[in-house]
Amino acid sequence: QDASAPKPIRRLEESLVNKIAAGEIIHRPASALKELIENSLDAKATSIRITVKDGGMKLLQIQDNGTGIRKTDLPILAERFTTSKLQSFSDLSSLQTFGFRGEALASISHVAHLSVTTKTKSESCAWKAYYLDGSLTPAKPGQSSDPKPCAGNTGTTITAEDLFYNTPTRLAALRNSNEEYHRILDVVTRYAVHNPAVSFVCKKAGSSGTDISTPSNSTVSQAINLLYGATVARDLLHTKFSSEGPDDMDVDESERKEGYWKADAHFTGTNYHAKKLVFLLFINHRLVESQYPPKGLESIRLPQESIGSFVDVNVHPTKREVHFLDEEVIVEKVADAIQKELAGQGKSRTFQYQT
Ligand code: ADP
Ligand code: MG
Repeated sequence: QDASAPKPIRRLEESLVNKIAAGEIIHRPASALKELIENSLDAKATSIRITVKDGGMKLLQIQDNGTGIRKTDLPILAERFTTSKLQSFSDLSSLQTFGFRGEALASISHVAHLSVTTKTKSESCAWKAYYLDGSLTPAKPGQSSDPKPCAGNTGTTITAEDLFYNTPTRLAALRNSNEEYHRILDVVTRYAVHNPAVSFVCKKAGSSGTDISTPSNSTVSQAINLLYGATVARDLLHTKFSSEGPDDMDVDESERKEGYWKADAHFTGTNYHAKKLVFLLFINHRLVESQYPPKGLESIRLPQESIGSFVDVNVHPTKREVHFLDEEVIVEKVADAIQKELAGQGKSRTFQYQT
């Protein structure tokens, strides 16, 4: 055999393509949960209840009281690129939802046993369907794969079981179910802070207590109080500002320039001292997975060299890309606004920040 000769190019099998694509979206239980929470929020849920077994590897269940899914949509629900959120290319620029690619449920169906129970307001009963590799599948071998009527309230319950059962290497990398559960709690905590109008509950299956439980109709500061503790909440400051400066919040949306963005920041003031920095970032209400603030924000130094801890920075660029092009400018404006707020805390101190 000639080792220098090129090898023939072959088309990958579709099931392999789908499995690879699924692995890019679903890295671990917490990333599946993030997608499911965003779906529930897209469906206007005001209550999201999460049940977890074995760090989400055995069971990850999320029950919401959102719009539900129409029975007629169930056959294609878990196919790749099926979505209710996007119809044409031009819709992309005005998206108000988290999802639009229609890949989350498909991905989960390729790496887990997926089942969906759902009821819309106008349906008289709920429907339960099982999915495997993008398609409806029977609950038990030999049965029909058609959705079955069952009892249930308006809303949707999505259950993913045996995550990564068919990708042993991925499963092997996720041995520690405590760590995975910790990541799940972290995702729920972050979404609960950013969506204080929605009640979030997270618990381990079979346990009577809950590990997270927030009320609906709350506020960001109340949620921070509940989830990060009273010492953080007591020293919490809040400021709103935009690319045009801190005093531009009431300008009519239609007069916004290209690249306009606005931000909402909650952060602790000078009285709060923490060893650990907590940083939450949402861009267009989507959780951005950064544990640490960008350079320039983490280095806002207070006089005693303590570091202010940012709890929620929420940036809304009208054009998504602009945020990334102008990241340094944005970070500087955010830092300025926070400085200004800190300086106005009533303490006669001067603040400096290093970059
Ligand atoms: P995307 O969110 O990108 O549309 P998904 O695979 O996450 O893709 O979901 C596919 C579709 O399933 C959604 O567009 C939505 O219509 C429906 N759906 C998923 N989860 C829910 C839910 N919790 N409540 C109502 N509809 C849902
Ligand atoms: Mg989605």
